[in-house]
Amino acid sequence: MTLVLKVLGSSSSGNCGLLINQGKYYLIDAGFSGRRISQLLKAYHITLSNLSGVFITHEHQDHIVGLKVLTQQPHLKFYANFATSSAIERKCNIKGPWKIFKTGQIFDVDSSLSVKTFPIPHDAVDPIGFLFKACNYGCAWVTDLGHITQDICQALMEAQDIVFESNHDETLVRNHPTRPAYVKERILGPLGHLSNKAAFDFIKNNRGPWKNICLAHLSKDCNSCETVKQLFQPLANMYGFNLTITDPRI
Ligand SMILES: [Zn+2]
Ligand SMILES: [Zn+2]
Repeated sequence: MTLVLKVLGSSSSGNCGLLINQGKYYLIDAGFSGRRISQLLKAYHITLSNLSGVFITHEHQDHIVGLKVLTQQPHLKFYANFATSSAIERKCNIKGPWKIFKTGQIFDVDSSLSVKTFPIPHDAVDPIGFLFKACNYGCAWVTDLGHITQDICQALMEAQDIVFESNHDETLVRNHPTRPAYVKERILGPLGHLSNKAAFDFIKNNRGPWKNICLAHLSKDCNSCETVKQLFQPLANMYGFNLTITDPRI
């Protein structure tokens, strides 16, 4: 059975993915309330008690807000690097139980699922992306990156399915009427978020083995599904990958 990676929801205000392997279910980040995550899981006919673990990319609120409720599920394991787990303990007043790894480490979750972790350039303590592999099928999760590094490129080129950030239209960020200059600088900076153009250029210039590309972490007020679709759909048609875009308003 193929490894499956789905986005339950993704935008600048909440992020949560679902990984399915051999009848086991894992979350990637928990950036919605426990109640909301439960609702989103209903589409897959599962509940919080069916989950085996949560892989955590970094400690920003839009990735961890549901963790406190999830720690009430005693069987759940929380996979994070040490710096991220410590930051989350401070922020959320929770105590794991953690499965700690080092950034850059490859480890087995069970006999059929392996995980490669890699650093991403973002303004968090030790932010990472994930490459999940089962039976030679790869799924990568890469959001919240200011720019694309060699590590990220390598991981994405090993995956058939990718969830990849296409956060904003640069002009809309620059011309935003109410956002302060320091916020604009953060978003557009090397440790901020990936623009539509940077995501597009990467996918166009690196023709990976991609079957499914899901563009995620769209900004609510500086991007739209329509803009992203207009930009990427011709490329999807030309390269032959299936394109999905996560609506930031859901
Ligand atoms: Zn972030
Ligand atoms: Zn985020």
